[in-house]
Amino acid sequence: MNAPPEMPAPLLIAGEDAPGTGPVLDAIDPATGDVSARYQTATPAEVDAAVHAARAAHERGVWRDKKPHERATILFEAARRIADQTETLATIQMRQNGKTLTECRAQAKAAAATFRYFASVCETLEGELTTPRGDYLTLTVYEPAGVVALITPWNSPLTMEAQKLAPALAAGNSVILKPSEMTPGCGLALARIVCEAGVPSGVLSVLSGTGAIVGDALVRHAGVSMISFTGGTMTGRTIARLAAERLIPCALELGGKSPHIVFADADLDRAAEGVFGGIFDALGQSCVAGSRLFVERPVYRAIVDRLVARAEALRLGPPTDPSSDQGPLASFGHRERVERYVALAREDGGRILAGGKRPLGSVFERGAYYRPTIIEGLDNKARACREEIFGPVLCVLPFDDEADLLAQANDTSYGLAAGVWTRDTVKAWRIARRLEAGTVWINTYRELSIAAPFGGMKESGLGREKGRQGVRLYTQPKSIYLSLAGGSP
Ligand code: NDP
Repeated sequence: MNAPPEMPAPLLIAGEDAPGTGPVLDAIDPATGDVSARYQTATPAEVDAAVHAARAAHERGVWRDKKPHERATILFEAARRIADQTETLATIQMRQNGKTLTECRAQAKAAAATFRYFASVCETLEGELTTPRGDYLTLTVYEPAGVVALITPWNSPLTMEAQKLAPALAAGNSVILKPSEMTPGCGLALARIVCEAGVPSGVLSVLSGTGAIVGDALVRHAGVSMISFTGGTMTGRTIARLAAERLIPCALELGGKSPHIVFADADLDRAAEGVFGGIFDALGQSCVAGSRLFVERPVYRAIVDRLVARAEALRLGPPTDPSSDQGPLASFGHRERVERYVALAREDGGRILAGGKRPLGSVFERGAYYRPTIIEGLDNKARACREEIFGPVLCVLPFDDEADLLAQANDTSYGLAAGVWTRDTVKAWRIARRLEAGTVWINTYRELSIAAPFGGMKESGLGREKGRQGVRLYTQPKSIYLSLAGGSP
C-alpha cells in the first residue's frame, strides 16, 4: 500500500485555496484500493461563502462585463494551459476512476479542445435585431444567468467538467462546481488552471464533498440562479424538484439504456466492432453505452459469435499499461452493483455468453476488475434490460421486423442515444427519425463532436449541451424595444 498523501487538498473558493471544514474525503485508486489523494470538503457554511463571493463578483461585473473577445482570450489561454498539462490531468483522473491512461490523455485533450471551441463561440455569438415594425427596433441580447451551480459525475470528469465550465464561463457567469465525491481532483485541477489563465478572482469555485451535503446545500441556496447537472436520473429528479420550487432553470444530462440495432444487411464485421466499442469502451461506464443490442434474427448468431470472441480477447490490466484495453471499474462499490445486476439477469433466465465474473490472476487481486459480460435470453422487460447498469454488461435480443424492433427499442423510460447498422440508407434514415433518442448514430457509434448538441429525450434529460447553442443554455434572452420616434433631443 502506498502512503496516503500528507495534506488533504483544499477547496477553491472565489479562485483561492480555502480550507474546508467538512470531513476529509479519500479518493481511492480502483486499480489498487490505495488512497490516491485526500480532499478537504465543504460544509454548508463554505457553500454559502462561495455563493456570496460568486454573486458579489457577478454584481461587480468583473467577468460579465468583459468584452467577448477579452473573455475569449482568457478561455483560449485556459485551453493552451490545459493542453500543456495533459499528463498531469490524465494521471489524476486515472487514479480516481481507473480509466486507462491512454483514454484519460484523450479526455484531457478533449477538455482543452472544449475550451478552445467555447472561446471561439464566445467571440462570435451574436444578439439579434428582430424584424422591424414601424418606428421602433426590437433587439434581443443574451445575458448571463448569474451564479451557476455545476454538478458532475465520476465517469468522465475531465470532459464533462470542461463541457460545463467552458460554456458557463463563456456566457459570462460566475460558476461553482461540485464534482463527484469519487473524483474531486479533476475539477479542482481544471479550475486552478482556468483561474491562472486569467479568470478574475471571485468568479470560480470548486467545492469537494458529497452530494447529500454539498450538492444539496448548493441547489437549495437562494443565491444560485441556475443548475446544470449531469448524473443519474433519480438525482436529477430530486434536483429538478428543488429547482422547480425556486423557479430557476435546470439543465439535466441523465442516464440511458441505449438500443444498438443491427439489420441483416449490415456489414457484419464493422457492425460487431461498433457494437463492441459502443458498450465495452469505458467498460459501459458511459451514459451513451449501447447496452441493449437488437439483432435481426437471420444474423443474430453471426453477430453474437463475433461479440463473444471479442469479449474473450479483451485485455484487462493496470490502467498505466499501454497494452491494457481497459482497466478496473471506477470503484469497488460500483463493481458490486454491476455484479448484483448480473445475478438478477441470471435469476430472470439470462444466459451468460461471456464474462459474468471477475478476472483471475494476481494482477487483478487488489483492483475493481470485472470481465465484459454478454447476456442473451432475457426479455426486454427484464430489469437488466430496463435499468441503467452503467457497467460492462450487454443484453442481446433478436428482432423480426421494423415494427417489432421499434416497439422494443423505444420501450424504455430513457432516450439518450441509439445506433443503427444497415447498408440501406433510406431504412437507416426512417429508423433514425422514429427512435426516441437525443443522438442517433448510423453505421458508427460513440462518435462525438463538441459542435453537435447533446442531450436526452424522456427520462434522459432536459436541455442540450455543446454546440453553439450550448452557450445559450447559460444565458437568458432579454428583448429591448427602442423607439425611433422623437427620441432625439
Ligand atoms: P449521481 O446522480 O449519483 O451523482 C452525480 C452528481 O450529483 C455527483 O456529484 C453527486 O455527488 C451529486 N449529487 C448526488 N446527490 C445529490 C443531491 N441530492 N443534490 C445535489 N447533488 C447531488 O450519478 P453518478 O455520479 O453515480 O454518475 C453516474 C450517472 O451519471 C449515470 O446514471 C449516468 O448515466 C449519468 N451520466 C449522464 C451523462 C449524460 O451526459 N447524460 C454523462 C455521464 C453520466 P456525490 O458524488 O458526492 O454523490
